[in-house]
Amino acid sequence: MKTEIISLALLFAACASVRAQEAVTNEADSLRTDSAREAADSVRQDSSDVIVIRRVPLESGRTIDEEMIVVDTVPSSNEGVSIVLFNDNTWRYVRNRNIPAEDNTVFTSDWDTVKLQAYDVELKDMPVSVVIDLVDSLKSYHYPHIGKINSKYGVRRRRSHQGTDIGLKVGDPVYATFDGRVRISQYQNGGYGNLIIIRHDNGLETYYGHLSERLVKPNEWVTAGQLIGYGGSTGRSTGPHLHFETRYKGQSFDPERLIDFTTGTLRRETFLLKKSYFSIYSKFTQDFDEEIKSEEEDKKIAAQAAAVQYHIVKKGDTMGRIAINYHTTVSKLCQLNGLKNPDKLSIGQRIRVR
Ligand SMILES: [Zn+2]
Repeated sequence: MKTEIISLALLFAACASVRAQEAVTNEADSLRTDSAREAADSVRQDSSDVIVIRRVPLESGRTIDEEMIVVDTVPSSNEGVSIVLFNDNTWRYVRNRNIPAEDNTVFTSDWDTVKLQAYDVELKDMPVSVVIDLVDSLKSYHYPHIGKINSKYGVRRRRSHQGTDIGLKVGDPVYATFDGRVRISQYQNGGYGNLIIIRHDNGLETYYGHLSERLVKPNEWVTAGQLIGYGGSTGRSTGPHLHFETRYKGQSFDPERLIDFTTGTLRRETFLLKKSYFSIYSKFTQDFDEEIKSEEEDKKIAAQAAAVQYHIVKKGDTMGRIAINYHTTVSKLCQLNGLKNPDKLSIGQRIRVR
């Protein structure tokens, strides 16, 4: 019976794997142009030429907790991927780290386990935009910590604050956000204090600062939701909190673009990272305000458009009569319609009255 379940799971997994691979290929094909990338972030289309982005925040990824027991690990059709079966009859894909993934260079090039800045890429040489897959069948997500935001990304007391500060108590668990490999685990005098930097499959790096304790070592592979350390107040810190950063090729951007820290949810599964986000002045909340503002303007324009009213000229109509019927004046009607001679009306003519 157990064998049957496993082979069924295998069959299903193999099909799902093929589908996932096809989807990835299609996405890559369709996102070659920058205009398509721009469209990807703003337009939701179900046609195959534009990637579909779910706007609804995702539930945080499932973590492997203590009650879940691994029953078996079986190979999938993709030799780089195994299927792990749990005692609650659920399963998930796990990347086989012994077999390098195709894009494995992410964990070998610019890999430095001592220097915080591993990349030597200047901002001007960064791509205009890059599409980053945050979650798919292989990549899962877990919030680093749920809590009140004490300080946002941006300029703070004339200094650049390149991360988000999330309130916690000393000893609270801090989790790896995505699957990846620990690049830095060290004590930073004066600044970050106990710091962990994890590089992820998607090319992003996440920083976890001011920890009281670090539980992982450099070069160690971690999975999303893995306990990596405990919250603290080490380094330059005025009270216990997690200093959390998100970076791409060494450049920081507002972590709130990815995560809603008050609920722990991921804002999207595919993220369009724009070069403009690497500015310390570029904040998620700003964009949000702008979005609301433009939405309000759109509504106003729509309301004005809806208020526009026309009258079709009938036999016997005069401008004076139309003006009376619509509680307006002849001069207003002339102005609205760009008419010079109000006496020249023809039957069937469309006159704007409002
Ligand atoms: Zn901070």
